[in-house]
Parts: sequence; structure tokens; C-alpha cells
Amino acid sequence: MEIEDFKKLQKKFDDKYIGPYNDLPADLLFLTTALAGEVGEFANLVKKYYRLKQKEIGVVGEEDRDYLTEMKKEIIDVFVYFLIIANQLNLDVNEAYWANLERNKKRFSKINNL
Ligand SMILES: [Mg+2]
Repeated sequence: MEIEDFKKLQKKFDDKYIGPYNDLPADLLFLTTALAGEVGEFANLVKKYYRLKQKEIGVVGEEDRDYLTEMKKEIIDVFVYFLIIANQLNLDVNEAYWANLERNKKRFSKINNL
């Protein structure tokens, strides 16, 4: 499935279950906060996983927790909010991605003298 297919699927879901987004500034404020919350949940798991692997304090009793599975769930939450925001912005993800990749190629070629 292509990224635009995911966007369409998410829009269909949002229209049916969430209701219309019809106030762009307020919707973006909510969605950005929600996205940041999901990134925070992911980051917290990464922090705890790192601590567990480094045998640092604060992870007693957490040794059996499946951090990688939980991280996968949280990063998908991030992806879902990304899709919703991309829909709100009418972002052509393919086009924007390729343009960004070209910009970064030039940027990192300079930095790495390529
Ligand atoms: Mg979550």
C-alpha cells in the first residue's frame, strides 16, 4: 500500500469515527499536541529500554517488559497522527518526501565533501 492510500484510509476512518475537522488552527493545535504526546510515549519507552540494557537504576521489575513490542505500537500511533496532519495540510507526502530527500542529499554532500 502506498502512503497516499494510508492517508485516504485514515481520512475515511476519521470521517466515520472522529467527526469532521473543520477548524484548521484549532485542529492543528490538538493534533500537534496529540502527536507530541505519542512521541513522548515512544521516547519514554526508549529511555526505559536503554536503562534496562545499561543496567541502570529505575528498572527493577521491568526486566520482562516487551519494550520493542510497545515501541512498535507507539511509533504507529505517531504515524497515524502524521497521516491525520498530512490530510489536514493536504500534503502530497510522496512529492514532499522526494523534495526533502534531494535537499538533504545536497546538504549532506556538502557536509561530507561528497
Ligand atoms: Mg500511544
